[in-house]
Order: sequence, then C-alpha cells, then structure tokens
Amino acid sequence: SMKDTIDVLLSEDVINTRIRELAAQIDADYAGESVTLLCTLKGAVFFACELAKRITIPVFMEFIQTASYEGTQSTGTVSMKLDIPEEDVAGKHLIIIEDVIDTGRTLSVVKEMMLKRNPASLKVCTLLDKHECRVVPFEGDYIGFTIGNEFVVGYGLDFDQKYRNLPYVGVIR
Ligand code: 5GP
Ligand code: MG
Repeated sequence: SMKDTIDVLLSEDVINTRIRELAAQIDADYAGESVTLLCTLKGAVFFACELAKRITIPVFMEFIQTASYEGTQSTGTVSMKLDIPEEDVAGKHLIIIEDVIDTGRTLSVVKEMMLKRNPASLKVCTLLDKHECRVVPFEGDYIGFTIGNEFVVGYGLDFDQKYRNLPYVGVIR
C-alpha cells in the first residue's frame, strides 16, 4: 500500500552531487560537440532531466520505451514500446540514459539496435548499476552509483507505477 516504509539508500543531495560530476565528465568528454541524450521511459526521465540541466554543451533529448519487467521479476524478453526514427540517431553523439542496469538484457538489445543506425558515437549512462546481477555481460560508460542486489524505488524508479516521484532512491522495507 502507499503506507509502505521506504528506507533511504541514496539521498537527493548525494544524487545531485553525483549528477553534477557526471555532467562535468560529459562536458569534458564531448567538448566542442553536442550530445543527444536518449532517455529510456519512464524510469530514467527524472535522471535525464537533472543531468541535462547540468550539462553546458548543446543537449538534444530523445525518448524510447522498452518493456522488459513485470513486478519485481525480469521476464527476460525486451520489446520496444516506443522507438525513434533512424535519422534521429545517424551521425549523432548518442548517450543512452538509463535508470538502472540489472541483468543487462535491456541495454544490450537497445545498444545493438542503436549501433545499427550509425551514430557518430554511442555511450551508456546509468544512474544505478546492479553490477553483480548481470545475466548478459554489459558495461555502462557513465555510472552514477553501483548498488547491490536489491529492488529500489524513487527518483523515477517505480514499483507497479508507484514511488517514481520520491526525490531519493530507497528500498521498500
Ligand atoms: P535489465 O534488462 O538490465 O535486467 O533491466 C533493466 C530494467 O529493469 C530497468 O530499466 C528497470 O526498468 C528495471 N529494474 C531493474 N532493477 C530494478 C529495481 O531495483 N527497481 C526498479 N524499480 N526497476 C528495476
Ligand atoms: Mg527502465
């Protein structure tokens, strides 16, 4: 119910500090260029917006949506609910923005799909990395925080569509 108790794992201050560092890193890595942040709906929206606001080089925003998760158990299949046309990828410096990399299935599929569309470059930025939970090998390029094998909510991450609006990342007790 909405009366669940949520323990704070990463506070808003801690997250904002880290996002500033990631933005500075992206500014440095892409100096003189522009970047396209390819945000994965819905979970990564909060992170993508906060990151975009702290990047000072020109930023373009695009959105895709995948479906790979039911409740707290991965189904192991990945499908595209919302895609973008090839011309929005070709020649662009693309950074896929994800909320959390868990098994690695979603992003390995999305990354392969986007690489076929000939971006100028392609990197992956994730707020959270559950690195020990990989089922398929996958490495992000910009990692906010590495966390353990626990189901987290808040800062865009939901549990059955609830808790996205928490300003911190937490764990349901
Ligand atoms: P993967 O394909 O890497 O297993 O799963 C990535 C997706 O699973 C994420 O984009 C997210 O939607 C969902 N996911 C994985 N772990 C968590 C979690 O701890 N909390 C929430 N809310 N979603 C998760
Ligand atoms: Mg997701």
